[in-house]
Amino acid sequence: MSRSAHPAGPRYGDVHTEGHYSPPPADLNTLDDKIWSRTVGRDEDGVATVAGLPVTRLAEEFGTPAYFLDEADFRARCRAWTDAFGKDADVFYAGKAFLSRAVVHWLKEEGLNLDVCSGGELATALDAGMPPERIALHGNNKSVHEIERAVSAGVGRIVLDSFQEMVRVAHIAQSLGRVQPVQIRVTVGVEAHTHEFIATAHEDQKFGIALADGQAAEAVRRALKLDGIELIGIHSHIGSQIFDMAGFEVSARRVVGLLAEIRDEHGVELPEIDLGGGLGIAYTPEDDPREPHDIAKSLTAIVTRECESAGLRTPRISVEPGRAIVGPTAFTLYEVGTIKPLEGLRTYVSVDGGMSDNIRTALYDAEYSVALVSRRSDAEPMLSRVVGKHCESGDIVVRDAFLPADLAPGDLIAVPATGAYCRSMASNYNHALRPPVVAVKDGSARVIVRRETEEDLLRLDVG
Ligand SMILES: *Cc1c(COP(=O)(O)O)cnc(C)c1O
Repeated sequence: MSRSAHPAGPRYGDVHTEGHYSPPPADLNTLDDKIWSRTVGRDEDGVATVAGLPVTRLAEEFGTPAYFLDEADFRARCRAWTDAFGKDADVFYAGKAFLSRAVVHWLKEEGLNLDVCSGGELATALDAGMPPERIALHGNNKSVHEIERAVSAGVGRIVLDSFQEMVRVAHIAQSLGRVQPVQIRVTVGVEAHTHEFIATAHEDQKFGIALADGQAAEAVRRALKLDGIELIGIHSHIGSQIFDMAGFEVSARRVVGLLAEIRDEHGVELPEIDLGGGLGIAYTPEDDPREPHDIAKSLTAIVTRECESAGLRTPRISVEPGRAIVGPTAFTLYEVGTIKPLEGLRTYVSVDGGMSDNIRTALYDAEYSVALVSRRSDAEPMLSRVVGKHCESGDIVVRDAFLPADLAPGDLIAVPATGAYCRSMASNYNHALRPPVVAVKDGSARVIVRRETEEDLLRLDVG
């Protein structure tokens, strides 16, 4: 979402014919490497390729719609984050962006840790052999069962989100004869410049414990007294798809301020702070995300400076990128179905998926790009809206984008940067079968999450 360019973009359900689109690129055949994964290109026939594999062949073998995830790119992004932060910090991949057993193996091999926020994500992590001490459990309403499972597995940390939960975790840990390391999630009152539904550090929201009115300090007071938990740090997550580091700066300053208060009141210097995730990626050519190296440098500088001026030892920093790792690594491949030109407005291009495989456009007004990938075309640019096949007029995948005017049913088009929050938010609306995720690497492709079948759907229907 290029929030910077369109701070007050159109909302889901709005009737608007103006559109918020960039001018057509000079050449519609270009696959800008800012928004496409690293190994994407075109072969001499003009067919787009990923990891050396033509998309036409991939469509034949795996069908459409399907997500193709560039494993080399995923691993490279993991390494970029761990290299950038070095050995004095921890990188936790936010599993909610996209999680599967293969992803857990890659994370394990690349030395990352993993955030989970449900029993299902925890089960996937443990099943794929993630060492429990490298797992953090999040969530504003963790069930007793989820907490028991996490504590008995020995997860590295549970991030506490409320007073009630603090007591619950302490009791469960005690009854299991454990001392569970915990962090307290605070809301620092930073409004990240992004869509309201995904900004998570307003005070008026369900996550965390407010810093401003002394609630966070009270939570620390209670946590330090409870047996069964060991308070190891403070956690803050300010939002999603953020480009501007200013929010992190304020957040870090306030969290360090709390660490100083804790030291003054209790004589304890907490060893860790977690600054959350939320770093933006490029969905369109207007988005300019910062490199992990750059982000690491500024975050560490802020924390170090604030700690020095408060006379604190610099705590161990952790960060939790989800989208910034997996988002750019995948694209969704669709087949074009019907094409409906609306005079004076735009052309509606229907694909064989839609809001069931990408809800972000309907949910957040997310902006995406799209390209014709099964062939080259030198036809004129045609203002298009890529829509799905669902029974909702809000079933939009790409609100406004240019496709070549000779687009025809049967062409393949692809939407880049769909690695995060697309498969993980996919639904069975209209009894759609959720698409597979195919990992591609060095000229080979393998299914890591298979396509759903009608048998899968009917198996749950036991009436
Ligand atoms: C969602 C979330 C993240 C990851 O956010 P991204 O925008 O994918 O980087 C990290 N930490 C917490 C606590 C979250 O809720």
